[in-house]
Amino acid sequence: MSNFNLSWDNFFGNEPAVDYLRKNLAENIFPHAVIFSGIEGVGKRLAAEICAAALLCENPRDGAPCGVCDNCNLTAAHTHPDFYIVEAEETKTARNIKIGQIRDMQSEAALMPINSARRVVIIDGAELMNKAAANCLLKTLEEPPGQTIFILLTTNLSSLLMTIRSRCGTVRFDKLSAASIRDVLISKGVEDRDAGKFAAIANGSLGQALKFSTSDGAALRDKALDILNKLIANKLTNEEIFTAGAKFAEWSREKFANFIVHLQRLLRDVCFVGELEPYNSDIAARLAEMKLPERKIFLMIETGVEYRKRLRSNANLRLLAEAYLFQLRKIYGG
Ligand SMILES: [Zn+2]
Repeated sequence: MSNFNLSWDNFFGNEPAVDYLRKNLAENIFPHAVIFSGIEGVGKRLAAEICAAALLCENPRDGAPCGVCDNCNLTAAHTHPDFYIVEAEETKTARNIKIGQIRDMQSEAALMPINSARRVVIIDGAELMNKAAANCLLKTLEEPPGQTIFILLTTNLSSLLMTIRSRCGTVRFDKLSAASIRDVLISKGVEDRDAGKFAAIANGSLGQALKFSTSDGAALRDKALDILNKLIANKLTNEEIFTAGAKFAEWSREKFANFIVHLQRLLRDVCFVGELEPYNSDIAARLAEMKLPERKIFLMIETGVEYRKRLRSNANLRLLAEAYLFQLRKIYGG
């Protein structure tokens, strides 16, 4: 027996979406094309793979895959011949789904299924299709190959072509409450105190909270907070910046990019105190006391966006990190 993980028992939150999908699977009325919409880390991909397993399974029960047949195991291993996943390809400057990937998928989707009664295609990150790719997919959705089911996942429903949206059902996946994220983390063995903190800064994304709990996400947030505190106290000296730069130089570019994201979120919370639900609800009171003019906050946020872009170039990480901090200080003092 392999460790089959595509079970609804492993899925947390979004009960209405799950009930709807299971009912459709159980009654064999699953839509031919459906969009799962919601922020990153709320289970869209897991739900899509569980649906795929149930659709390809020999003995599905109550809208769930049996978990023991060959089809189930092949689906879970991503080696099922009737299961196809399209994902964005990442280059230095862009992350998107290209027309060639959609064409490759189409030639597969047009074939008769091999192992199961149907084929299932997942397109993860449908908003990352460029225009040509989206139009190419549209043709397939207009004349769908009879036995193929399409599940599109997106974090940005409004950016999909209206013509694509109109041909698909839509299932919404909502943010999870901090309390339920905390409960899941505790059930996975995270300490109570840490679970509360990770849940508070995950902004409704269980995936994000799990990342925090298994990486140094919370430490990154604290490092960003430390820099922000020093900036506001006029203590971000040249020496501080060079010391920080040396530390950042030991990090991966991705880790530094995440550091910028945390700093951006802190700035946003300072700016919209009492107006928007904070990302960092555990320290909202402390952030509310920080006095920073809105204009400067926006400039700092723009700077963060710009430096995250520059990170994708070959520029030296240490120099880039130092330039970023110097720029923040200049805006603060300006
Ligand atoms: Zn099965």
